[in-house]
Amino acid sequence: MIGLISATAAGAVARDRLAAAWPDRTRVYEGPVGDAVRRAFAECEQLVCFLATGAVVRLLAPLLAGKAADPGVVCVDEGGRFAVSLVGGHAGGANELAREVAASLGAEPVVTTATDAVGLAGLDTLGLPVEGDVAAVSRALLDGERVVLEAESAWPLPPLPTAGGRADGGAEAYVVRVTDRAVEPRPGEVVLRPPTLVVGVGASRGAPVEEVLELVSAALRDAGLSVRSVAALATVDAKSDEPGITGAAERLGVPLVTYSAGRLAEIDVPNPSGAPLAAVGTPSVAEAAALAGGGELLVPKRKSAGSPATATCAVVRRPGRGRLAVVGLGPGARDLLTPRAAAELRRASVLVGLDQYVDQIRDLLRPGTRVLESGLGAEEERARTAVAEARRGHAVALIGSGDAGVYAMASPALAEASDDIDVVGVPGVTAALAAGAVLGAPLGHDHVSISLSDLHTPWEVIERRVRAAAEADLVVTFYNPRSRGRDWQLPKSLAILAEHREPATPVGVVRNASRPDESSRVTTLAGLDPATVDMMTVVTVGNTATREIAGRMVTPRGYRWQEEAK
Ligand code: SAH
Repeated sequence: MIGLISATAAGAVARDRLAAAWPDRTRVYEGPVGDAVRRAFAECEQLVCFLATGAVVRLLAPLLAGKAADPGVVCVDEGGRFAVSLVGGHAGGANELAREVAASLGAEPVVTTATDAVGLAGLDTLGLPVEGDVAAVSRALLDGERVVLEAESAWPLPPLPTAGGRADGGAEAYVVRVTDRAVEPRPGEVVLRPPTLVVGVGASRGAPVEEVLELVSAALRDAGLSVRSVAALATVDAKSDEPGITGAAERLGVPLVTYSAGRLAEIDVPNPSGAPLAAVGTPSVAEAAALAGGGELLVPKRKSAGSPATATCAVVRRPGRGRLAVVGLGPGARDLLTPRAAAELRRASVLVGLDQYVDQIRDLLRPGTRVLESGLGAEEERARTAVAEARRGHAVALIGSGDAGVYAMASPALAEASDDIDVVGVPGVTAALAAGAVLGAPLGHDHVSISLSDLHTPWEVIERRVRAAAEADLVVTFYNPRSRGRDWQLPKSLAILAEHREPATPVGVVRNASRPDESSRVTTLAGLDPATVDMMTVVTVGNTATREIAGRMVTPRGYRWQEEAK
């Protein structure tokens, strides 16, 4: 919940606008300001104070407990011009909140946290538990000092500017270490804990939580593993409500994953036994459940200390799962690139794409991002490269213009991909939509896109589809309509459509939609000169109901209008 506090009439107006915009996320605290701030601080995860920063600093000072515990606090000035992230920039989410509040109120976000301000991934924002000298290493990163990345586990991290840092390993270098082993951070070192460990657990009915927890801790301790790298506990379905197991998962702050006995019985384990087979129908619970998601068995089954022992556990290290984001950049204009696409670009440590698209977004990348760009035509190779990098455990963004799934990289990439990587798709504004918005409302009823490129498709197939669209009276948008070596396909396609549509049918031609040199015109089937069309263009041909109205191309949603027009 976000607590909202104001003192003046102007503050109350801005406060009420925010409360109306986010009714489910906010609660207004009325009454004397000091009292309101204290109550909100105790009850909310975040505060937005429509007060001067000085006043808020004085009120908060006695309440602050520490970075990890304090709510994030944002101040908005009397004029509603600035949303200032005051405390809890990272852990309290105040930086993000300042941006959201600013966007909602039309204000400017003010973020002073060093790592955010210069575009580095803050070491405490990576979503991994972090130990050690965060302040010193962050400062070293910011100052461009020598920092070495020692990654024992491949994990899809955003770029750390250390990646590829000098490896001559002098003792004085700062270190960012990624490991699930129970190492103590040395001075000048930060240890990131990737969620690589899965602990399989079996328990007889009524096994005490303490006994399960003690067993798990001892198993990790003896194997030299960090409890902070535990990603999940795993067990058999029949034990999904066993309080000793659910309680242990809760205390460790990790999810409990369960599998059917049948599934567990299929898994080869070193130490099967008769007891669980009789009780739940699988010769192994702990080892099999730990191994069910794949990985390497680090700690074979061991029993708890009680007599009789009531619990068993086993520990598996999962291979790092790389992450492939397939990101559409939109038609060109920066404000048609979605915030989600921008976030994925900043999330990636490896960027794969066509050189001209990379140029379009280079300024959004974090320093240290490895850019693998290639020229036109190398599509299959780009797809393979992106997947291979993700398989190595990296966070990869594969980019395409418009929507990356429309005549673009998503399908060749996913044809290469296997289920050992995570895949995230980010939709983009495809050329047909960008052009449609420029032209008016040509896609108001059923429509289809057809690419006239015969690079991947024989002409017979393309022609059959154009004919079907003509017969079905679909609005058609042609992608790749015409290039220097390929000039007869567009006139041929228009001729096919003309067999079923009037010569006066509106046709929209949009070149470089949303780019600085955008141009567009609405003409007709008979009037279109194909020579004015090139590869930067889409051509949208209306159906029998499409009209030109006040210079705009409009396809009515139904056919009643068409009937009336006749
Ligand atoms: N993935 C892209 C399409 C790639 S095919 C998308 O979703 O938009 C390339 C063709 O798309 C070009 O030949 C052109 O026909 C069309 N195109 C892409 N961007 C365009 C733009 N900004 N304006 C007009 N046409 C565009």
